[in-house]
Formats: sequence, C-alpha cells, structure tokens
Amino acid sequence: MREKQILGMIWKCNLCGFCPKDFECPGYDKDTRWESTFARGKISIVHAMMQDPELGFQNSPLTKERLFSCTGCGHCAYICPSGVDIPLIIYLGKKKLVEAENYPKEHKMISENIKKFGNPFAEKQPRDFAWPDLKLNIEAETVYFPGCMAIYRLPEIAQHTIQLFTQLGEKIKVFQHETCCSGILYRTGHTDLISDLTKDMINEIKENPPKQIIFTCPGCLTAFKEIYNSELKEKFENIKLLHFSEYLVDKVLNLGDLKPKVEKFLKTTIKSPIIWHDPCHLARGLGIYEAPRVILDQIQFPYLEFDQNREDSNCCGSGSGVRSAYPDLAEKTTIQRLEEVKKLGAKTILTSCPFCEYQFKSTIQKNDYDIDVIELNSLLIKLISIV
Ligand code: SF4
Ligand code: SF4
Repeated sequence: MREKQILGMIWKCNLCGFCPKDFECPGYDKDTRWESTFARGKISIVHAMMQDPELGFQNSPLTKERLFSCTGCGHCAYICPSGVDIPLIIYLGKKKLVEAENYPKEHKMISENIKKFGNPFAEKQPRDFAWPDLKLNIEAETVYFPGCMAIYRLPEIAQHTIQLFTQLGEKIKVFQHETCCSGILYRTGHTDLISDLTKDMINEIKENPPKQIIFTCPGCLTAFKEIYNSELKEKFENIKLLHFSEYLVDKVLNLGDLKPKVEKFLKTTIKSPIIWHDPCHLARGLGIYEAPRVILDQIQFPYLEFDQNREDSNCCGSGSGVRSAYPDLAEKTTIQRLEEVKKLGAKTILTSCPFCEYQFKSTIQKNDYDIDVIELNSLLIKLISIV
C-alpha cells in the first residue's frame, strides 16, 4: 500500500479510543495508560512522522520503543469500529524508523543474519538438510513451505507434516531456491531487503508455478499472500496458498479412523484437558479459525476454548520481533495467557503456529508451569501411531 493510502487509513481514525478495550494490546501500559502505549497513540506518532519529519519523532528512543513493541497481533484493528488497519500503519512507522537508523539492535542482527544466511538464526545448514529428497521431486505440483522456525528450531513440525503428506499420498517438493519468507523483515521495517532476498524463489514460481503451496507457519503464509502478492498477482491468482489445516480439512478421514484411538491417546500420551489457542496471524490475520476445529471435531477430539477465541483471541506475545527486542514484554503477555490456561483447568495448549509454540514452551520452561504445548500436525501423527 502506498504512503498516501496509509495516510487515508490514518484519517479514518475517529479518535474514539476503543482500541485498548479490555487491555488486549500486549503493549498497553495498564498502570500509566499512556496514549502512546496503545493503537490510537501509536498511529498518531506515525502520522506525525509522515506529516512533519522536522518534529523529529523518528529520532526519539520513545518512538522506537512504542512502535517496535507492537506485535502486529491486529487485535486493535479487530476492535476498531472505523476499520483502521493499525498494524499496516505501524509497519510503515517501523520502516521510517529503520530509515532513520532508530531501531532495536536485535532486529539489526536478525536482518543481517537473513541477508547473509537466508534465515534469522545464522544457521549455516542448508534449508533442506533434513529432507534433501524433497528437492528432487521436481514434477510434484504441491510445494511444502516449512519456514525458518520449523527447519531450524522446531523440526518436528516439518517432519510430522511431511509424514502426513505421505499418509495422504500427496507428492510434494520444496522450492529449489527456498529462503526466509521475509515476513519478519516486513514486520520489523526492513522492507528494502525483501526483493533481493526472495528474487530467486519468486522467479522459480514465475517460471514453474506449482498448483498449490502449503504452509505450517501462518506468518509465512501471510508473507506470501500479502507481501509478494502485489508483485506476483497474476501468478498467485492461479496458485492456491493454503495453511496445512485448510488443506487437511476435507482429507482428515483419509488418515484412517482416528476416533477409536482418541480415548487411549488422552490416557497415555497427552496431559488433558487440552485447550486450542488461535494464533493471531492464522485466526485474525487470515480468517482461518474453523478449519482446525473442524479437523478436531471430525475425529471427535475434545478441547477447551479460551474465553476470547477465534478473531477475538489474545496474542501469545512474540510476534514482529518483540520476543527478541523486548523479551520481558513478550514473556509478560505469554504469562497472561498461561494464567488463563490455568484458570480454565487445561493442561496442554494445542496450536498451529511455530512462533506461538516456541514462545509458550520457552516461557513455561522458564517459569515452571505445569502445562505442555503441542502442534496440531504433531498431535495427529502421535494419534495415528497409537495401536
Ligand atoms: S497490533 Fe496488537 S500489539 Fe500492535 S497496537 Fe494493535 S493490539 Fe497492540
Ligand atoms: S478504535 Fe479505531 S477509530 Fe477508535 S481510536 Fe482506535 S484506531 Fe481510532
């Protein structure tokens, strides 16, 4: 979206002040209630930077803290009666702060790692080191895009997903020129690096468009749908871009009759009750909240709901580089979720986003909560293996 359109978006704000509602915004300071800690104040800062750079907002340490502490969860935009796309405005503000060299040093490291290694973790192993054969399936019309987190930090997500594809008889491949989806670059204001990073992968798609690309990371899927789509509109209109839960929803019965296994699974393999956590990018961002529930309902798998769920679900706290730049804020937000889990009596969080899973797991470990976390595809593979 061009700057003029974003300015128009800012002008849609009628200053009603509904956006912090019940303190859903992870960055909102409940004690001081400073305007600049919630959406209305944050977009006012971006407005000031756009309208009058001489005011110098782009050089202020406080501006940096206020904008980069936004996880991009989109809860404010869901609440906003005027339909203001607040995260989009804040992403532009972050871009301006990067141009002014006023951004967290942790994000500098992430962007440099991506530039040098093609992933945010400075991992030197090739992206397909654990599944080199998938690159050889060049005739396959389905691409699996695992994303950096499932390759380098939570490989069981990718391994279990590949097993599910095999169970379903789906021939898959990975891109020859796969790289970081660049979502984190976009959400931390480093948009200038995106086209260079992704050009070989995008050219591969242009030259040899697959029928469908399936994602296990909602952030990667969002990057393909929202960042590249403007560049690749023509091609992407004919390529299905799906989260794995959308892909699986009408095929789950092809995994065999899992219903009789559920009871034994609950007794032997997992701590129950289980609660479903809607990842922000998946539920609010992409509108995918029924597919995982339909999958669970089809196999009669019991689960609890958070009081706020689907589009109204609350953030895990880790998005848009907040985990790396403001770990205390991320942890504080995650602890709020864990306290809700405790209050509802659940023992395992079930979700479908590697960032949420990683953030929950690390916070649980650090703070000694008696709660487990499992990703949906891993749950299905474990259920299938029950005899
Ligand atoms: S996107 Fe989320 S973190 Fe950012 S201002 Fe809105 S509610 Fe707060
Ligand atoms: S809810 Fe929307 S219109 Fe109201 S102050 Fe917040 S951004 Fe502006």
